[in-house]
Amino acid sequence: MAKEKDNKEDICKKTLCSLVKKNYHQDHPREYMSLMKKAGYLCAKCGRPTVNKKNVCKPVKI
Ligand SMILES: [Zn+2]
Repeated sequence: MAKEKDNKEDICKKTLCSLVKKNYHQDHPREYMSLMKKAGYLCAKCGRPTVNKKNVCKPVKI
């Protein structure tokens, strides 16, 4: 297995809610799409998919 950059691991711990606020989806559209595929929860408040439900405003399992 290829080792990913530390940066990517850090991102996986965050939610797309917070990433979008930082314009992450504009700066890294391909990374953003890959995170959406991994998402197991949807933020009912923001409407954003998220990887980690602990960091989302209102998580709903999808
Ligand atoms: Zn949210």
